Amino acid sequence: MIFGATGDLAKRKLFPSLYRLFEKGNLSEHFAVIGVARRPLTNDEFQDNVKKSVSTAIDKEDRIEEFSSHFYYHSHDVTDSDSYASLNKLAEQLDSHYQLDGNRIFYLAMAPEFFGTIALHLKEDGLTNVNGFKRLVIEKPFGHNLESAKELNTQLRTAFAEDEIYRIDHYLGKEMVQNIEVIRFANAIFEPLWNNRYIANIQVTSSEVLGVEERGRYYEKSGALRDMVQNHMLQMVALLAMEPPIRLNTDEIRSEKVKVLRALRPISGEEVKDYFVRGQYDSGSITSESAPAYREEQMVEPDSNTETYVAGKLLIDNFRWAGVPIYIRTGKRMAAKSTKIVIQFKDIPMNLYYQTEQTLNPNLLVIHIQPEEGITLHLNAKKAGQSMEATPVKLNFANKGIDGINTPEAYEKLLYDCMRGDATNFTHWDEVALSWSFTDKISEVWESTVEKNFPNYASGTMGPKAADELLEKDGYFWWPVTDLDVEKC
Ligand code: NAD
Repeated sequence: MIFGATGDLAKRKLFPSLYRLFEKGNLSEHFAVIGVARRPLTNDEFQDNVKKSVSTAIDKEDRIEEFSSHFYYHSHDVTDSDSYASLNKLAEQLDSHYQLDGNRIFYLAMAPEFFGTIALHLKEDGLTNVNGFKRLVIEKPFGHNLESAKELNTQLRTAFAEDEIYRIDHYLGKEMVQNIEVIRFANAIFEPLWNNRYIANIQVTSSEVLGVEERGRYYEKSGALRDMVQNHMLQMVALLAMEPPIRLNTDEIRSEKVKVLRALRPISGEEVKDYFVRGQYDSGSITSESAPAYREEQMVEPDSNTETYVAGKLLIDNFRWAGVPIYIRTGKRMAAKSTKIVIQFKDIPMNLYYQTEQTLNPNLLVIHIQPEEGITLHLNAKKAGQSMEATPVKLNFANKGIDGINTPEAYEKLLYDCMRGDATNFTHWDEVALSWSFTDKISEVWESTVEKNFPNYASGTMGPKAADELLEKDGYFWWPVTDLDVEKC
């Protein structure tokens, strides 16, 4: 059952992803989808919507008629018990028609304020009372701070056990994010170096060119820290920094990630300004077109204090990482759309060779997450010719798939995992709670002090100057993400 089946997420991500699974044979014939939303629609109209959304997203659609015949619609008010009773009746009919063995997945693709109410009704009105499995898939945001997240979790837990709750972080469905583990744990040349003896710093960038578009109302209350750092950025950091799990199963991987989040040095009060930088975009130009300032966007306050950019320095206080800064930055209306991880290795003790600028480049391992997918290793090698001069060379691996932000592929993998009951690439409550307790301390300071410098970066740039200074203080600089692109190497 997809709650919010007439919404943007269902249309752009969920239906196309389900179709891909169907086409690849990963979805058996024994399935039915009930689309649940407020507006009245017939099954035919709903199936037409599904067909349209699939054809917009995917070229191939040979089996679209057969696929869409499995879709049913239920017009629903999420607060009305009677409506749940008729939904349950429809689900029971479909269960026997398609021989579903009482297995049910409830996907909440709706505004978060309804999550708790729906979960409670699902239990009270008997929808979770099934012979097979019952699973709840829940979209972000999971609360807006630790307290609200706890409240939501308590509501969900009355109807579902922790191992029945699949909290989506679509970054965890991305091919190259899943690849972090393999790069680290399947290569003898990296894992021995993956620590504070050989790594100087790590930089995680997730930049967007788009502004807030129509999401001003939501974004005003959220900001980049809650929208990106609490979930996606900290999840990537956890994967980069965790110890090798003793087994590749859900519990072991999650428990290693949780240890990283527990070791994150808390930043609070006066320290926040030394470790974190907030930014808000001003007007500017993006690909030679002028773009408005954040404060001029729809549903945004003209004196908004909301950050559209965050840069931060994280420290993980454990044996492996003590002293290695992990820099993160994310923002809207930046110069390039790019998610990349740069691992900068320490300089070798002495430079025997020289390059034109007399310094030897450090070795870098770059993991390209989106839009390009790949890995680049930056080395130094001899420059061809008579002299013994070193020159930078790059070893490149490019995945063929070009991944756009939120592509159906990530959702396709996550939906498939959920159907198989594999929760590895979903966030456990412990991870959610630890991440909120880390970011809450920063939000507290930012919300209680008005940033007088806002707006502080022009649209089409890589963020405020203070973000560069954050690294300069430590003797580093942000590696320019566009220069590191796979095709430029
Ligand atoms: P949307 O506003 O486009 O759709 C909301 C859906 O909820 C509609 O189908 C609407 O009919 C239904 N709805 C609203 N009130 C209802 C009620 N009282 N009873 C029954 N149905 C009701 O939202 P969206 O963009 O699809 O986002 C859904 C969720 O997914 C949100 O939690 C959002 O944060 C999350 N999310 C969305 C995206 C995205 O790309 N759109 C990405 C990541 C996360």
